[in-house]
Amino acid sequence: MSTQNSETRIFRAPGRVNLIGEHTDYNDGFVMPVALDFFTWATVSPLENHKLQIFSENFNEEIEVDLDDQNLARRGHWSDYPVGVAVVLERAGYRLRGAKLRIRGEVPIGSGLSSSAAIEVATASALVANSGLNIEARELARLCQRAENEFVGARVGIMDQFVSLFGKAHKALLLDCRSLEFELLPLPDNVRLIICNTMVKHELASSAYNERREQCEAGAKYLNVTALRDATLEQLEQHRSGLPEVVYRRCRHVITENTRVLTAGEALEQGDLDHFGKLMAESHQSLRDDYEVSSEELDLMVELAQKIDGVYGARMTGGGFGGCTVNLVRNEKVDEFSARVAEGYEQVTKIKPEIYITTAADGAEEVSHG
Ligand code: ADP
Ligand code: MG
Repeated sequence: MSTQNSETRIFRAPGRVNLIGEHTDYNDGFVMPVALDFFTWATVSPLENHKLQIFSENFNEEIEVDLDDQNLARRGHWSDYPVGVAVVLERAGYRLRGAKLRIRGEVPIGSGLSSSAAIEVATASALVANSGLNIEARELARLCQRAENEFVGARVGIMDQFVSLFGKAHKALLLDCRSLEFELLPLPDNVRLIICNTMVKHELASSAYNERREQCEAGAKYLNVTALRDATLEQLEQHRSGLPEVVYRRCRHVITENTRVLTAGEALEQGDLDHFGKLMAESHQSLRDDYEVSSEELDLMVELAQKIDGVYGARMTGGGFGGCTVNLVRNEKVDEFSARVAEGYEQVTKIKPEIYITTAADGAEEVSHG
């Protein structure tokens, strides 16, 4: 146990899963993530200098940086995330007080549940409070995103940081990635979110991601819209003959996916989980066939899930080419689901999947103990 003085404070921020709305964020569209009851904790106390001492329990390592050092830059190290947050805050004009930070994460690292946003938001919340600052949550989400874009060097949208701050227990968050307006929609208590990790990540992911982005940009340009968010299916059909077939299909995914997210929002509002689950299935199909970002493992995981009674919906979640599926499952079926999907998946692939049983949680907050 570390010694704690009266100025020690503890913050936590959750990981997330996206229920529907995949590859829509960079098309200015809609997404529907949920903050999960897996958290990263940051315990902070002030230092009488302008330094940061950061210890990660997960990596069992402490680092120290001087915030006056003008040459702080990415090292390809876990500390890039919290240091990046501090550097971006300072560059935005917020003067930070020196701090001792202890990080403990229970979000699986590198599994697509955004342990990165969780550590950024937990660190940012802790540093801001420790410095006696007050930063509006929307601005804080943007700063954390900027830390990951500019300091860590990962091209990510704002969804993860946003939901880690604004998520709520019993709610899914429908986010307009263009305006950052959002709505919290009810998730009934009789379901769990089960996340199945295929434990596979295909190398293709980053080159394919950039290729998809370019295809979307080409489609938007041809349709003469700012972003695919502004295009309708009718417009796309009218222009079909002038578009390469593959670009047409990429556009069709994005346009139909945006509609699905909005319809899924209405379904949640009406408590219609059957309809919501159907939209999840359609989303998976569209990602598999039109956007071509699924994989054999993801398809298998979804097929296994769909065979089980009490499963409302199953789909791949995240960028694709491996990673996780998300499943909406009735509480009383959780054990059966976990056992049958794990067994079926291992039988075919010889890979033992990881299965996380989760539920919606509140976004970042100060807590009294870690
Ligand atoms: P994901 O966000 O899907 O979990 P990323 O690759 O985006 O995967 O982010 C994972 C990285 O975030 C880790 O490799 C590490 O650098 C950093 N990180 C996440 N959680 C912690 C933690 N508890 N302690 C230290 N670094 C962490
Ligand atoms: Mg991440």
